[in-house]
Amino acid sequence: MLAAAICLPVPLRRSFDYRVDAALAGRLRRGCRVRVPFGRRTLVGVVVGAPRELPEGADELRDIEAVLDDEPPIPAELLALCEWAADYYLHPLGEVLAAALPAALRRGAMPATAQTEGYALTAAGRAALETLPPRHRAQRSLLQALSTAPRSRADLVATAAVLRRALDAGWIEAADAPAATPASGTPTPTPEQAAALDRLAAGDAGFAVHLLEGVTGSGKTELYLRRIEAALAEGRQALLLAPEISLTPQLDARLRERFGDGVHRFHSTLTDRAREQVWLRARDGRARIVVGTRSAVWLPFARLGLIVVDEEHDTSYKQQDGFRYSARDVAILRAQRLDVPVLLGTATPSLESLHNARSGRYRHIRLQRRVHDTPPPQVRVLDVRGLPLDHGLSPPLLQAVDRHLDQGGQALLFLNRRGYAPVLLCHACGWNAPCTHCDAHLTLHRGRNRLICHHCGAQQAVPRHCPSCSATSLIAVGAGTERIEQALANRFPQYRVARFDSDRITSHEALERQLADIRDGRTQILVGTQILAKGHDFPGLSLVGIVSADQALYGTDFRAVERMGQLVTQVAGRAGRAGQPGEVWLQTHEPEHPLLQTLARDGYGALCDALLAERRDTGLPPYAHLALLRAEAREAGQALRFLQLVRPCFEAPDVTVYEPLPSGMERRAGLARAQLLLQSASRAALHRSLGAAVARLQQMPEARRLRWSVDVDPYDL
Ligand code: ADP
Ligand code: ZN
Ligand code: ZN
Repeated sequence: MLAAAICLPVPLRRSFDYRVDAALAGRLRRGCRVRVPFGRRTLVGVVVGAPRELPEGADELRDIEAVLDDEPPIPAELLALCEWAADYYLHPLGEVLAAALPAALRRGAMPATAQTEGYALTAAGRAALETLPPRHRAQRSLLQALSTAPRSRADLVATAAVLRRALDAGWIEAADAPAATPASGTPTPTPEQAAALDRLAAGDAGFAVHLLEGVTGSGKTELYLRRIEAALAEGRQALLLAPEISLTPQLDARLRERFGDGVHRFHSTLTDRAREQVWLRARDGRARIVVGTRSAVWLPFARLGLIVVDEEHDTSYKQQDGFRYSARDVAILRAQRLDVPVLLGTATPSLESLHNARSGRYRHIRLQRRVHDTPPPQVRVLDVRGLPLDHGLSPPLLQAVDRHLDQGGQALLFLNRRGYAPVLLCHACGWNAPCTHCDAHLTLHRGRNRLICHHCGAQQAVPRHCPSCSATSLIAVGAGTERIEQALANRFPQYRVARFDSDRITSHEALERQLADIRDGRTQILVGTQILAKGHDFPGLSLVGIVSADQALYGTDFRAVERMGQLVTQVAGRAGRAGQPGEVWLQTHEPEHPLLQTLARDGYGALCDALLAERRDTGLPPYAHLALLRAEAREAGQALRFLQLVRPCFEAPDVTVYEPLPSGMERRAGLARAQLLLQSASRAALHRSLGAAVARLQQMPEARRLRWSVDVDPYDL
């Protein structure tokens, strides 16, 4: 009996054998989709093991109902990448593949065709025409047909397979693909950029990770464009990953300005159909450049030649639910498997990347100067202890705002907390607007007149009376961006204030409008969250105020200070104008805190040195590897008991298995959560422990009564 291994979209870490008859077996290739019965359902699965002979007496297997593809829609390289990721992240392959396939293909629909107008011969194709032996008749006649001019698909007699092979070889390209030569306006590199380009080009031969570290405005993006151009010139495709495309219109605009319409966007707010079109164009090689968020790392490129990860430190590269992967790390692995370079760009490298660069695993390239030669900003720590705070703003900071505006500058106030106030408190009885589903307070949103949970999304109207004691003495405690915006609008009525957070910036257009108002000087004061740290250019900005540098210092998350340092540095990097340094003020109640002092006095690099020393002493990444087993259940205590039960499964040489603990915020969206932390200096040892334990967990009846998942390289603990 012949059987094939099929991967199904179910949360199980295994494939399933189905019977195939000999006639079908010849058609079944790895990566083809099939329709199979599963329980009482019919599912679309993917062939992961070619048909093989099963021994006599093997279990009775069910039949494959239908084979959906003759050609695998998933290229072999991508399927292998998904298998690697499923193994590395201990996640079911079916769910990994779901991340890599367009929705319609997952449902079993036939792949749509990317509307192809026609094809043109490339320089490589012209060369191939000279050298290709006559026995390659089909290829030769295709190249011959295109040798005088591009032709439409309908005019060509070549089969799809012949076209695919010629595309894969880089001999032909879709006729509507962009010219590889930049349209216009390529600036001459500065000497520093030129030196960096030389080093980047030196690594051209194959896989290398380049950490391109340069302050905002030092010309990193310009280098990305140059490297992309070089990849295109070789007939390859380029992928540029960005944290959030809709928040970085400038990046997109610059790519288009340089490369025209050949730039394809890929992100989660596109429709399924639009995503599928980019997917198909990546696969047939017509999408020469894709700029995308996290999930674009799974696109089926035909001949990828370069991956750029912009803002490599950004936390949004890590998916925080379901399949918890890091797109940055997958990008590096994919580049390694493809033997192509990857370029990590940032002004504030993650400690992991910095460590890899210092230990020689990555090539470290630095840009120290800003292109337009703006000196770095002056950073000062502002001790607000004992000062009267006006909605969170101290008199010295307000005076600084006044002075900068008066001199024609612009001021930016940064606070990583949206809404009006994080707590609504009853002064009479102490009621404090808890969320009924989470261990958290509801945030007061004045504009919408709602109390909203930032963890589960639950909302309710703002009560006039305390729901507990009926008193009317409800007070807003603490400040969010909405409150700072109002305070500044009241204080400086002659100037315009713009707020940047996800409540206000709901579309690309809204963002563009607000940015234009700032560029044109109609808006003088900016208030916002991390959206303001995302690579926008504010040429008139002279003052940055960090409303609270303390949030991170009290946090329990081991990455909190690293992240604060990144945000402060990123926001501070926006300050300064044409030759004049900007000013950055950090409000704090802990002015003596050594890490804060280090950041203010010596900058992000020095902060990293201090943090790396701490991480080394405490055995945290990048000096050790971590994994979490997370569990959640409706019933209080169930998740924790489960973790206590399974803890021994993880015991292994060279792996520390900690006591299970309730998660930081134990209850979220009605579920009680707990986690088990594993730590090891050896990635291999950690992986062995996880692999063995997960295999056992899958057999345990207790494990079916709650939700559990593995988080490899967790971002927060
Ligand atoms: P980064 O990505 O490091 O913030 P950019 O590449 O965006 O830096 O460069 C900052 C600004 O300088 C941009 O407006 C860019 O167009 C401009 N720029 C970059 N390189 C050059 C150059 N070699 N000559 C002139 N202008 C440049
Ligand atoms: Zn009350
Ligand atoms: Zn909630």
